Amino acid sequence: MNLTGIQIFKHLPGGLKLPKANCKKCGFATCMAFALKLAQKQIDFSACPYVSDELKNLFEEFSKKQQNEIKFGENMQLTIGGETVMQRHEKTFVNKTVIAIQLSTDDKDFDKKLDEIANYQVERVGETFKVDAINLIDKGNILEKAKNVTNKGLALIISTFNPYLPYELKKYNPIFYFKDTTKIEASYKDSRLVVNGSTLEKMAKKAEQLISQKITENIILDYDLTNKNLASVIEDMTKIRRLGIQSRDEKFAHPVMTKISGRKSDYEKLSIASFLLCRYSSIIVFDTFDKAMLTTLMTLRQNIYTDPQKPLQVEPKVYEMNEPDENSIIFLTTNFALTYFAVANELESSAIPSYLIVTPSDGMSVLTAWSADKFTAEIVTKAVRNSNLYEKVKIKKIIIPGLLSHMQEELQEALPEWEIVVGTNEAYKIPEFVNKMEQN
Ligand code: SF4
Repeated sequence: MNLTGIQIFKHLPGGLKLPKANCKKCGFATCMAFALKLAQKQIDFSACPYVSDELKNLFEEFSKKQQNEIKFGENMQLTIGGETVMQRHEKTFVNKTVIAIQLSTDDKDFDKKLDEIANYQVERVGETFKVDAINLIDKGNILEKAKNVTNKGLALIISTFNPYLPYELKKYNPIFYFKDTTKIEASYKDSRLVVNGSTLEKMAKKAEQLISQKITENIILDYDLTNKNLASVIEDMTKIRRLGIQSRDEKFAHPVMTKISGRKSDYEKLSIASFLLCRYSSIIVFDTFDKAMLTTLMTLRQNIYTDPQKPLQVEPKVYEMNEPDENSIIFLTTNFALTYFAVANELESSAIPSYLIVTPSDGMSVLTAWSADKFTAEIVTKAVRNSNLYEKVKIKKIIIPGLLSHMQEELQEALPEWEIVVGTNEAYKIPEFVNKMEQN
């Protein structure tokens, strides 16, 4: 994160209430105006002759990278690292955790397993998720297997004891995990390399060596979970993150990868992976491929890596479900993606031909939108009147969310040509509600 205008102002004569405050020598009318320009990097601090050494040191400190951002994959399609905050709600997490599955090149079912992994996908709230990468364990035939993986659109993490891998592998822009980083050749200059170590300090030292030898700065720390309890894992992961992004300790300014392997139950694997996704693994590698577990994890990942300042939303408009006609029912809700998909999924799966009017509410759920004046009679009236439903349906009936039953009268007055009906509080009760309505 950069210094904010307020943080800078506190160190300027204006913030320190010194006699030379607001002297205008920098070309700005006030120290605050100068501080804001400085925060936006539109001017250099040398324009003010009174910048203290303390502020200069602060600038130097803040100019250090917090966590390196690393791209990989044939088309550099994946990005890890680049995080600037400890907690998602402080700002946002930027590059979502990469989920990778381990495959050994000598696995007799290699192609079958690869197909299954590559074909797996899950759709949620308008997004499609797939496995991101394969952690290829080099047991020979590495070039052919790497090509197969890349052809499936998956990125590569290559684990090997061989320091003399075929040079052609570099065209796939993989992450290389050499078991012995002391033998890394100059030809791997600027590649993405993994380092490990029995302690955090030893791991950081190896990273430092690669940087000082000018081999690469694209380093991923492999945090080994073996024989550690979850509490100490989370403590260590938090320590690495804190050292990197808060203390700006360059030895720890690298993304971290973790591997979940061994004889753990699926629940155990999922709970460990969930913690690591929240606390702060940039890559999680599994030694098994379990669709149910990945679906759960990808759902969590979507929630964690959604920008809290920008709620997921869908386009406000009229959606058609199951080929509606002039006798179809009309539902109405807000454009918060979770609300929309909850309602739309129920309508689609229950085969009810219907229209769904989605009102603009800045991505807020119904009650939040109502309390923030984003779901008012005026907004609803505009959405209904701008729709083409007047010509499309014979039965002029609109079902509003049950949670907004207190608005029925107001909406009825605003839209006298329609009958406003209060629907259900929960989306899953919609089919039952429609059945009852049709019987009456
Ligand atoms: Fe404030 Fe600008 Fe004067 Fe410095 S030069 S003291 S920032 S007004």
